[in-house]
Amino acid sequence: MSAGFIGLGAMGAPMAGHLAARKLLSVIDNRTRSKAETLAAQLGVRAAATPADFAGCTVVALCVSMDADVLQQVEALAGVLKPGSVVVDHSTVSVATAKRAQALLAAKGIGFLDAPVSGGVEGARNGKLSVMVGGDAADLEIARPTLESYAARITHMGATGSGQATKAVNQVLVAGINEAVCEGLALGEKLGLDPDKLLPTLMAGAAGNWFLEKRGATLLRNQFAPGFKCGHLLKDLRIVQGMAHDAGIRATVIEQALADYAELVQRGEADADTSALILLKRG
Ligand code: NAP
Repeated sequence: MSAGFIGLGAMGAPMAGHLAARKLLSVIDNRTRSKAETLAAQLGVRAAATPADFAGCTVVALCVSMDADVLQQVEALAGVLKPGSVVVDHSTVSVATAKRAQALLAAKGIGFLDAPVSGGVEGARNGKLSVMVGGDAADLEIARPTLESYAARITHMGATGSGQATKAVNQVLVAGINEAVCEGLALGEKLGLDPDKLLPTLMAGAAGNWFLEKRGATLLRNQFAPGFKCGHLLKDLRIVQGMAHDAGIRATVIEQALADYAELVQRGEADADTSALILLKRG
């Protein structure tokens, strides 16, 4: 079993680190090549010079940015991987992209799993991600040792696309929680409440949640280092908006979050953490 990893950002770099710690990782790559070279030297693995460097991998995991990035990498890997190997995509992209990637690889006898993750950069660093998997059960068994190196939970949701569908649901909750926490804490600031008392009090009751715990104190100090970038949540919300429209649900949370993150990105906050939403809520 030999794994490759492509996309070494806030999530991918620590995930690759867990694979290397289990001696499963052999080669890595990233759009900005210097990042791959630096991390490869730290982890004692190879930095790819061309896609052919992944030819010997049983599993190649991706954690890149957008739909087009996933398809670019899948097309390159389809030309070099052996039949029976598996590509696992941890990026958050559309169901249509997952299906397209699966079809491109299936034509060469290569498996594909859409396997988006939740748990934030903390989950990636601690190796405690929740992985939601769509695709063939036999391909999941091939990829399982790779996923186990950074997952607390691996759930096979069903056929190709069902991992991304699950992640879409996850992002509705994430966006709504961010709206509520940032609005509530903006109100708390205006009311002059002491954050050192407010935050633990909220966490101890029914309002406690991951975002409040991990980002509450930093957002009140105007520290917005990602984390999870506003630009990435905007991408996710655009995907989710289309799905909600097709499903015919009343999507007021999605619409509000979409408008807010579009405004933040327009203000130049695309690379800030999503907790920068407090900037809008302060009025
Ligand atoms: P990030 O910090 O922006 O990292 C993305 C990485 O992918 C960068 O290192 C980037 O290279 C690389 N990349 C982009 N396009 C590429 C391509 N075509 N080929 C090779 N490498 C490419 O983003 P992230 O926070 O790690 O998120 C990655 C994905 O996971 C996104 O789809 C995001 O929505 C999702 N996600 C994020 C979180 C989170 O909390 N951050 C949680 C769950 C899921 P450069 O160095 O050139 O920029």
